[in-house]
This record gives sequence, structure tokens and C-alpha cells, in this order.
Amino acid sequence: MPPVRQLRVSFRTFGCKLNQAETEAIADGFSAAGAAVVGPGEPADLVVFNTCTVTSKAEQKARREMRLALRRNPEAVAVVTGCYAELEPEAVVAVAPRCVVVPGSRKGALASMAEGLVAARLEGLDPLDELRRLAALASGREADPFAFVPGDALFHSRPQLKVQDGCDNRCAYCRVCLARGRSVSLGPDEVLRRALALESRGVPEIVLTGVNLSQYRSGGLDFPGLLEALVAGTENIAFRLSSYEPDRADERFFAAFTLPRVRPHLHLSVQSGSDAVLASMGRRYRRDAVLRAAEAARAARGDPFIGADIILGFPGEGDDDFADTVDLLERIEPAWVHAFTFSPRPGTRAFDMRPKVPERVAVERAAVVQAIAERGKAAFAARRAGAIVDAVIESSAESGGPAFATSAEYLKLEVRGAPDGFEGACSCRVDAPEAGLPADGSSIGGSVDATAAFIRT
Ligand code: SF4
Repeated sequence: MPPVRQLRVSFRTFGCKLNQAETEAIADGFSAAGAAVVGPGEPADLVVFNTCTVTSKAEQKARREMRLALRRNPEAVAVVTGCYAELEPEAVVAVAPRCVVVPGSRKGALASMAEGLVAARLEGLDPLDELRRLAALASGREADPFAFVPGDALFHSRPQLKVQDGCDNRCAYCRVCLARGRSVSLGPDEVLRRALALESRGVPEIVLTGVNLSQYRSGGLDFPGLLEALVAGTENIAFRLSSYEPDRADERFFAAFTLPRVRPHLHLSVQSGSDAVLASMGRRYRRDAVLRAAEAARAARGDPFIGADIILGFPGEGDDDFADTVDLLERIEPAWVHAFTFSPRPGTRAFDMRPKVPERVAVERAAVVQAIAERGKAAFAARRAGAIVDAVIESSAESGGPAFATSAEYLKLEVRGAPDGFEGACSCRVDAPEAGLPADGSSIGGSVDATAAFIRT
């Protein structure tokens, strides 16, 4: 009889911050139940895949990694959850016999399955049978979309706090709303209780996340109301927003956005700068709303980090439409842009839309937007040269080497002079570009935007 050993679990997350927040909480549940949470490439008994369905590439990647993980660990079980598993469970199960699907809408039950799986392992049982039994039980129960309480931040020192899920909009290209359903919100008292628990553990910053934060509604509060309640109910923890809809970034929103401890970082789900494309996407605003939101953000916070999501190659996007997108970006001068090429998704209105934009053209347009993003990031970093900024060290220094941090303005910093082993809130002085950044404005490699000198905690 082989020696009984601890259940080893590894996690693989695809897609958005919300998926990351959920994986983190599930991993915490397994760790608390006595399982060993191991790294992605390490031998494991369970490999949990939290999948994404935003692009076909994300699904292909998940399937490929499932096969790889099971080839590496022939006795392991791939537990597949998330939006892809919610919408196409058959396609997932077909990947390999030792794949078990827990639909995204039942993801919240995974952490509560940990104890049963740990016990099964200690009894030397094959986790596959136990997992199938627990998954069948979970499928018959109402799932709690907020069963994801941030714990010991196994993977991030700026934990994500899920406060909203789902979306009531039905944008033409979007499968997320199909996978995650209607908008639901976590009660403000519970949000505050979770934030206070993190604050009491010395966590310096929380990232508030959801599918569409602007649709937060609970206890008579909208999202600005929630932010006000969080700042009023806590003492020193900072709040960062994952992303926001341009048309909902109104006066009430910016009143809350100016509050102390709200990070000067606004990521807008823009998608296009062409009114015609925005209309065919089914977006609820036009380019002037984006211009207003960027202007109001600067009026509220001086020079905040403004980010944007842009889809290139949406059906019908002509050269003039693309020129409108470039023009809009040059007007709002974002510090970063996530440029995505359109991916036709089954079950969405855009799937059959025509005329299609050739993939080559979409990729070329994305490269132009990527260049705008890099110029914007370098200019944003350069504007902070010599400034003392608040930051959170997320990866500590060792033997006098550099630490890595995220500043309040969302700059990724390589910090020298930080005490070995220190993680948490600190102040740093950002170097002038010539000291660290090459003159051509590109990052000094990896995900570092600037170098900085540690000042104090
Ligand atoms: S706002 Fe549109 S793109 Fe965003 S989740 Fe909702 S339906 Fe999808």
C-alpha cells in the first residue's frame, strides 16, 4: 500500500480579474482543508482549470493545457470550471476521460468540496470518483456567486474582492453575459465585512472586481454608494477598481472616485472610437461619453492612470472607423490600452455579422493601438519622474536585490533599497526616465514601467 500522502492541487486561471479572484478563494479553501497548493508545472492530484470564453484562443489554450497537465500527471484529475465549462461542458469532457466539469455557475461549490477530496486522498481513494460524486451533489444545489472570500492571498498581495457578477447588457460580441447570467451584487454589509477582515490582516490594497461594476445594486446602493460606504467604514486600506463602463462614469461616480484611498486608476471598457461600430456592438454610449469620462477623471484626480479596452476588427469596421478609434485614443491619451482582435463567438449576435474584417487587418490595427499604448505608458511614467508615490511591494527583495511593486497610479516599479523580505505598503521615489527607462520609451523588459528608490514603509 503506497504511503498515504497529502492531496496536491494546482490551479490554472484564464481570462479576467474576476476569474483570478475566484481561483484565489478556491485555492485558499483547499489550503485551509489541508491540501498542498502546488505550482502549475508541479506534480498534482487535481489540476483546477478556471476557464474563459471571451475568445476561441482562450478555449483552445485551456484544452491544450488540460491535455498537457494530464499527460504530465496521468493519475491526476482535471477539474474544469469557469465560463467555457459553463457554456460547452461536452467539449470540455471530450478533452480527456479524467476531466470533470463543474460549470462556472457552480464554481462557488469547489472550495466546499476540498474537505471531501482531502479525506478521500487520505483514505487512498482515487479523487476522480469522489470528485464526480461531489460535482453531482453540487449541480443539484443553488450556487452562491459570492462564495469567494479572499483569504491568505496565496497568489496576489493586492487581493481581488468580488462584489458583483453577471451583466444585464447583451453586447453583440459578448459571451460573458451568456456564461455568467444577469447582474447580481454582494450586500454592502458583507462587502465591508470582507474588506475589514483584509484590513485587519494588514492588506494595503483591495481590487474591487466584477463583470460590470457599474451595475452594482444592493442594499439601496449603487457602485459609487458602495465605494463611499467602504471608505467611510475602513481606516487605511486602499481601493482599486477593476474596470468601468464609460457611460456610467457620471458625476456621482467621480464624486466617489475623488475619495481618499481610492486609487487614481480608471480602466474604461471603451471597445471602439467609432459611433457606427459602437452602435453595431450594442454598446450603450458613443465616443463623446468616453471623452467626457477621461476629462472628468483628470478633473477629479489630476493625472490618473487611464486605461482602455479596444476591440479591433469588429464586423463592418472600415478604415474610417479605425481612424476614429485612433483619434479617440490620441485625444484621451491613455496610459495603457488592452487591444483585442475580434473573435466571433457562438451564440452571440456578432457571430454571423458581415462584412468580416480579415484577421490580417485586425492584427495590423491592434499593432497600431499597441504602439499608442506603449507611448502612453512611457509618457505616463516619465511624468512621474522624481515623484514620491505610494506603492505596494508584491515581490520582496532578496539579498539586497530589487523588489517589485505596483504604485497607487498603477505603475509597475522595480524598487531598489527595499528591506529583504518586505512586502506591503511603502513610499518610493520614481526615477527619471534616463536613469532607468531607455529613451525610446519602451519598458526596460518584463512588466516594469519604471525604476524607483525605496523611501519608507
Ligand atoms: S457590458 Fe457588454 S461586454 Fe461587458 S459583460 Fe456586459 S454584455 Fe459583456
